Amino acid sequence: MSKLRWALPDQGVLFVVSGPSGVGKSTLVKAAMERIPGLEFSVSATTRAPRTGEEHGVHYHFMDRERFDALVTEDAFLEYATVYDRSYGTLRDPTRRVLDSGRSILLDIDVRGARQVREHAPGAVHLFVLPPSIDILEARLRNRATDDEATIARRMEQAMEQLEGCVEYDYVIVNDDLDASHAAFQGILLAETSRRDRRQRVIDAVLGGGRTT
Ligand code: 5GP
Repeated sequence: MSKLRWALPDQGVLFVVSGPSGVGKSTLVKAAMERIPGLEFSVSATTRAPRTGEEHGVHYHFMDRERFDALVTEDAFLEYATVYDRSYGTLRDPTRRVLDSGRSILLDIDVRGARQVREHAPGAVHLFVLPPSIDILEARLRNRATDDEATIARRMEQAMEQLEGCVEYDYVIVNDDLDASHAAFQGILLAETSRRDRRQRVIDAVLGGGRTT
């Protein structure tokens, strides 16, 4: 797989966010998308069926197994993984286009996918969302699902696999107090996009007497 040229100074930042199901990751992501200009959400490909309210091309690119496997063969994915018996993947070309345009992109992917991004896009910034405790995560999974014990146990096992991967990340947010979590999450995204080594174009424009907006 070719490397993304994302680390060049005039490119946006590739953000990865991971965390177990039920940790509140999508709430943090949604608020950040609304608040941070120039940040795009990466729409993954998946073989899972749409849930109520999910739109093709907005939440996911929904597709059958045959199409997904063809994209794997074409090497179209920056990363892909099988989670909860379904395949999910981030398409490389749309990701590259966003970064090349100078905007940043946020990938909501699992720990296995994040490992592949770490390998192929070494300058990416990785954030992990932790629950305040494992007991609280389990209670959240129980509250929101009408699933049987076996399903809950399987989800907890998968959650533990994700949680153990948190040590590989640059930032960890404990999703205890929601306001504080939003502030931390958005603060990290803003701080990373403001790093001097990513602002050369703006610096040149200001020092050259031009306008930045
Ligand atoms: P859900 O089916 O609930 O939308 O997502 C289940 C899990 O799949 C989440 O933990 C999410 O982060 C992960 N996921 C979604 N898209 C991708 C992707 O493109 N690649 C990988 N590796 N994981 C993904």
